[in-house]
Amino acid sequence: MHYISTRGNTPKMQFSDVLLMGLAPDGGLMLPEHYPQIDKATLDKWRTLSYTELAFEIMSLFATDIPKDDLKALIDKTYTKTAFGNDDITPVRTLKDGIKILELSNGPTLAFKDIAMQFLGNAFEYVLKQKNERLTIIGATSGDTGSAAEYALRGKDNITVFMMSPHGKMSQFQRAQMYSLMDDNIHNIAINGMFDDCQDIVKALQQDADFKAKYSLGTVNSINWGRILAQIVYYFKGYFASTTDNSQKVSFCVPSGNFGNICAGHIAREMGLPIDRLIVATNENDVLNDFFQTGKYIPRTSDKTYVTSSPSMDISKASNFERFIYLLVSKDSQKLNELWQDVGSGKGFDLKDLLCDISGKYGFTSGKSTHADRLATIKSLYEGDNDLIDPHTADGVKVAREVRLDDEMIVVAETALPAKFSETIVEAVGDIDITRPEHTQDIEILPQKVVVLENKAELVRAQIEKFVTPN
Ligand SMILES: *Cc1c(COP(=O)(O)O)cnc(C)c1O
Repeated sequence: MHYISTRGNTPKMQFSDVLLMGLAPDGGLMLPEHYPQIDKATLDKWRTLSYTELAFEIMSLFATDIPKDDLKALIDKTYTKTAFGNDDITPVRTLKDGIKILELSNGPTLAFKDIAMQFLGNAFEYVLKQKNERLTIIGATSGDTGSAAEYALRGKDNITVFMMSPHGKMSQFQRAQMYSLMDDNIHNIAINGMFDDCQDIVKALQQDADFKAKYSLGTVNSINWGRILAQIVYYFKGYFASTTDNSQKVSFCVPSGNFGNICAGHIAREMGLPIDRLIVATNENDVLNDFFQTGKYIPRTSDKTYVTSSPSMDISKASNFERFIYLLVSKDSQKLNELWQDVGSGKGFDLKDLLCDISGKYGFTSGKSTHADRLATIKSLYEGDNDLIDPHTADGVKVAREVRLDDEMIVVAETALPAKFSETIVEAVGDIDITRPEHTQDIEILPQKVVVLENKAELVRAQIEKFVTPN
């Protein structure tokens, strides 16, 4: 399988090259030339597979330049009961009203990002060894990506990590998770700004070709293709766990920020998984909801991005969105370049003429949730179902309840565990005991390692120059 850039100006590449890349050299995102098609017979065969078996079947369609035995070993090493708490890796539970919860957050950092990132950590190490190369990972996080990346990459040979986060905007637990890592190859940088500012710094450094080559810059942000690939697996697994045969359809409702999680669902649907609707749930930062309702995409600047109680979705420029729009505009790279020029200038774009395709052909719909909705949803599940969900998952459940049609089976992605956001849980249901996995007890009292910097790319550049020997 070959990979191409959405912007149409990058030579075709193989999986292991794309794996180590951030943005494509032409500024676009890499994606497969075609999505493989899964026929009914194959789907029937896959229904009874374990998580690792299924992951192998799906990933081997995309990672065609990695020997199959090596890929299998990487997958088996990643998706273990030790790392994810149970053999199903992503089990499904059902609420009283029939809505299902796809548990994606039982990994080391209690958020769904572990599923992709744990794989990426092992895959990076493998590919770097093969190529005899090293990598400097620069990343931006609003909380969960950073900790998931750091836990996946800590102590790995030939990898150094510089992770930027918006200073003071993450929960106490999230800060403790990241900043308490003392590994020499992990560097935490708190930026005086918002998440989007951090992301802009990553982009600025990535776009400096000389600097990028000199320090072998790479990224683990949600634009990384390897992450999207790893996430495709749990849409299949979640579908099989929620149905009894492959004639049934399921809708997925996904708390969304950078459009990475639901982009994987979109690809699973394109591959032929019987997904009915893909429901994008946003918080108060609702640019994606606006797009799916009106066809207008107008990203906001960081001063118009709200700090909310589902902070991992406080994003107003969805970095993976381009992968969907590319398909929506019939793979017309020139058109896509024009659209993103208008995104870059702040004007945004209007694709209302394509609204029929967006909802019909591609199955997308959306809804939004607010702080009050989130609290009410957490409370209603706690009291009605004796079930505790985190604020992001609550946004998903709120939207799922709102848009659900008669007889529609909706699976909501559980994108984090409540223990990560105890402040909001307490606000919703009072001062209850929130269960925490053993390894996260008392992490708030551990010493922390972080530098605080002004919102300037040069300052981050200087940090990298200080700690990494150039090529
Ligand atoms: C990252 C994250 C999201 C948003 O996922 P995207 O892939 O960026 O759309 C939602 N909820 C939680 C808890 C997250 O960590």
